[in-house]
Amino acid sequence: MPTKISAYAAQSAKSPVAPFSIERREPGPNDVQLDILFCGVCHSDLHTARNEWQNTTYPVVPGHEIVGRVTKVGKDVTKFKVGDLAGVGCLVDSCGTCASCKEGLQQYCEVEFIGTYNSPDKHLGGMTFGGYSKQIVVRQEFVLRIPANLDPAAVAPLLCAGITTYSPLRHWNVGKGMKVGIVGLGGLGHMGVKLAHAFGAHVALFTTSPNKKEDALRLGANEIILSKDQAEMDKHINSFDFILDTVSAPHNPSAYLNLLKRDATMCLVGAPEVDLPVTPFSLVFKRRSFAASLIGGIPETQEMLDFCGKHNIVSDIEMISIQKINEAYERMLKSDVKYRFVIDMASLK
Ligand code: NAP
Ligand code: ZN
Repeated sequence: MPTKISAYAAQSAKSPVAPFSIERREPGPNDVQLDILFCGVCHSDLHTARNEWQNTTYPVVPGHEIVGRVTKVGKDVTKFKVGDLAGVGCLVDSCGTCASCKEGLQQYCEVEFIGTYNSPDKHLGGMTFGGYSKQIVVRQEFVLRIPANLDPAAVAPLLCAGITTYSPLRHWNVGKGMKVGIVGLGGLGHMGVKLAHAFGAHVALFTTSPNKKEDALRLGANEIILSKDQAEMDKHINSFDFILDTVSAPHNPSAYLNLLKRDATMCLVGAPEVDLPVTPFSLVFKRRSFAASLIGGIPETQEMLDFCGKHNIVSDIEMISIQKINEAYERMLKSDVKYRFVIDMASLK
């Protein structure tokens, strides 16, 4: 029998996220049940709650940066036991047999990956419901181990913001001797700065918010570039080995592409709801590449968590109660996040 639990959901693009009751399946032999302690607030939650990507099925329960305590395990579960701290990120299932899944790149599953929310739920029908809820049940392969030395609330954002920046920084071999740009100091951007710094790169942060300068330096940036100041931007033409663009709103990628060296890449992880203009000449001169990347697979997510445990890296968070979620969305739209909201799930009754 499925269990009824409390959650917060958006019922339409125009309605606020508000109390709602959902069902969770009884754990099967291979399932792990978690009581959710903390859930990070990703800009993707906002895009989805408001149907900005025009793919939302309502009601939607967002949340894919989940840290919780294991309360039940199925009989075949070997990875976890009751009482363990565990994490769930953006994925809860995939086909498991295609070439991408076999490589551990479940986010690129050639059949269909099952997102933590707003994906078809094979077990109960309807759609999957995310972490703005009391409890979740996930098959063990998609549950992550949390390093014991890290603050569990500040670990939650690693499960999306952390892996989404870690994966492209690793894929393009960011490290010592490289000049790396991170565009935007929000949830993803601040993790990008911390991780690129930990990999030994020289990190430049591009921001539209002059008041974030001190924070960016504290987080690991070596220099700050105000992207609206053309003279400042011009000083960096042809100088970057890699740029990671985390901007959530309409913007012009060519402004940053022009700053790459010959043959260098800019990778987009931000997902604004509009098409982005790219000037051909910002690419053809200097044979530059404009790429993009989607979250990260389960093995790499675990690798990232272990790396963060070893190097003591967590997100800078502002804890909120679930009742403040709509206010947090409004602040996110004003770039007023320092640098990730995390919901204390004890506030959900
Ligand atoms: P966020 O915390 O709201 O940060 C976005 C940042 O973008 C802001 O803090 C701001 O930084 C900058 N920004 C906002 N408006 C801008 C504008 N008009 N021009 C230039 N910069 C602007 O959001 P997030 O949670 O980090 O997510 C960022 C984006 O990544 C979202 O679109 C989200 O959906 C997407 N995302 C993608 C993946 C993936 O797998 N590819 C995974 C997760 C999230 P400054 O104040 O420093 O300018
Ligand atoms: Zn996310």
